[in-house]
Amino acid sequence: MNWIEFDGSSEKIPVGKILCLGRNYSEHAREMHAETPEAPVVFLKPSTALLHEGGKIVIPSFSHDVHHEVELVVAIGKTGSHIAVDRAMEYVSGYAVGLDMTLRDVQSEAKKKSLPWSVAKGFDTSAPISRFVSANKIRDPHNLDMTLRVNGSVRQHSNTSKMIFKIDFTISYLSSIFTLEEGDLIFTGTPEGVGGVVAGDLLEAELESVGWLRVSMQ
Ligand code: MG
Repeated sequence: MNWIEFDGSSEKIPVGKILCLGRNYSEHAREMHAETPEAPVVFLKPSTALLHEGGKIVIPSFSHDVHHEVELVVAIGKTGSHIAVDRAMEYVSGYAVGLDMTLRDVQSEAKKKSLPWSVAKGFDTSAPISRFVSANKIRDPHNLDMTLRVNGSVRQHSNTSKMIFKIDFTISYLSSIFTLEEGDLIFTGTPEGVGGVVAGDLLEAELESVGWLRVSMQ
């Protein structure tokens, strides 16, 4: 499942790294009783975590509390490291809407023990993603309404203008640590309203001008 597609093309682009930001919206940091970060909170998912339109999220048997986190996802279009902020947007090939599915019980336990989040964040099907829209079709990625519905009810609704670390800064920052390559993805963090989902639930994510994603819980 480790590929993405762009609107208007059937080409499957292989995905390398999936870099993710935590606590990138202050209202979400608040609901998690976490501090607003002074530097980006970064974690990774493996590319095998991707799930495409119409797919089913499978919760590992050891978790009983999986949360939805709707996010703007950025695709990188070319190789770069130590990218300057004012050149960073040249490295974006497109945008999608994605879900950073999180085993909240497993994550809470890891936080308590100061252990990594990889299991809570990187399990198979933990990264549902829509098709991508070319970057040149989005005039301002920092002003897009974002909504997540569960069984038709709105659970999360915000706007990408509320991101703490903007896309150009994030790309510059990440590229000073990880060489970015074509097909790498960046999940840019979720706004407030995260919550649990259970077997049979239908999740519908929408990002203005970008598109839709529908997946369900097995
Ligand atoms: Mg997230």
